[in-house]
Amino acid sequence: MYTDIQGLVIGEKKQGENGKLLTVLTPNLGVLKISTKGGTKLTSSLFASSQLFAYSDMTIYQKGNFLTLTEATVKDVFFELNEDLVSLSLACWICEVASSVSVGEGEQGEIFRLLLNSLWYLSKNPDKHTLIKAVFELRVLFLIGFCPELICVNCGAEPKGDVIFDYTSGELFCAECGSKQGERMFLKRDTYLAMKYIAMSPPKRVFMFSVSDDDALTLSRLSERFLINMTGINTTKLDFYKNML
Ligand SMILES: [Zn+2]
Repeated sequence: MYTDIQGLVIGEKKQGENGKLLTVLTPNLGVLKISTKGGTKLTSSLFASSQLFAYSDMTIYQKGNFLTLTEATVKDVFFELNEDLVSLSLACWICEVASSVSVGEGEQGEIFRLLLNSLWYLSKNPDKHTLIKAVFELRVLFLIGFCPELICVNCGAEPKGDVIFDYTSGELFCAECGSKQGERMFLKRDTYLAMKYIAMSPPKRVFMFSVSDDDALTLSRLSERFLINMTGINTTKLDFYKNML
């Protein structure tokens, strides 16, 4: 049976003489393992779509549990990501996050679009990797249902100044209402407003704001702790990225 899909290559492994086994993330079928014949040959029509971070329209042939790539048209290749180890390692981490939260079938279109958007933005702005990481991690959490209420859980008011965020529960407190004890982070008002923007902005505008380098770092620490607590995700690729800094 032949099927047309869209797919982003998030992993590749040599297979046989000139072939590859690709790990491909799709918008609505989760992660697929797809074989290519000739994926390592420059002259092959499948060469370009068999590269890491290539995003293509693909035709796949399914026989039993085996999927083979028969045709592909590249829509985008984020080749700049391979030129810088920080970008490359961050791209691998966010692909890991996207694939672990979109396991199995179901409509995961918005996470997939966020991933493509993040890879594109990272490929053009490698120096903004800290903020891109924070935006991606937070937005994924919000999309899978861990968006904080954005009101203080103690007094019920919308915080007017600095806040305290509990990254084990996603609960928010005004600075006056919450203690900083335990697994909580203090956020200056600007950092809180950036988090609120990431939660509320339309998909296409999610990167269209700026914060100081310090605020980007705070957001990145918060998003990472929140993500690890909520999903229990394996952090090998995150550790690799952090070792590159
Ligand atoms: Zn309060």
